[in-house]
Amino acid sequence: MGASPLPSSVERLIEALSRLPGVGPRTAERLAFHLLRTPIVDAKALAGAITTMRDTTRPCVECGHVADQERCWICRDEGRDAGLLCVVEEALDLVAIERTGAYRGRYHVLNGTLSPMAGIGPGQLRMRELFERVAAATAAGTPIREVIIATNPSPEGDVTLLYLQERLGDSVAAVTSMARGLPFGADLQYADAVTILRSLEERRGVE
Ligand SMILES: [Zn+2]
Repeated sequence: MGASPLPSSVERLIEALSRLPGVGPRTAERLAFHLLRTPIVDAKALAGAITTMRDTTRPCVECGHVADQERCWICRDEGRDAGLLCVVEEALDLVAIERTGAYRGRYHVLNGTLSPMAGIGPGQLRMRELFERVAAATAAGTPIREVIIATNPSPEGDVTLLYLQERLGDSVAAVTSMARGLPFGADLQYADAVTILRSLEERRGVE
């Protein structure tokens, strides 16, 4: 390997870009060169947007969604049905469901799925927070009526679904699943609004 034909600052950006999901080394090079040619104000705006986003957001203390305050806008919205809780793998799944405009309950973001193969157990996810939320609602006299498990239709999603059904079955009147309405392997966040809406409407109890 000879010396790099590019200044080290360009190499550093290419390296950072190539660590983004779905971006290989060639795409990273093209993006870096695009940013070299783009007006400097646009390049600085991009850098600033990344910094501002990271400096001003944090996980909602209640549901785990991306928030710019202690609690996210959904958890703060008194108009949302607090008796209905939709459990999702990631905040992006929440975004997909919100896009349908048909769901009026609240959410709980797990930050992943159980995966015995990858060594991911309940302790690595926001499971304890979920059980505490359910218990707190019951203790406050406003129990959660239904927990909709909206994990993706995948082996890990199913393991997570069954685990939650077992853990929540006794403390919540209904534990339902959305996954059956989605084609196997199809991620919620890539599904179109009509498909999500249908699986939301056709959700049913976990067998
Ligand atoms: Zn929240």
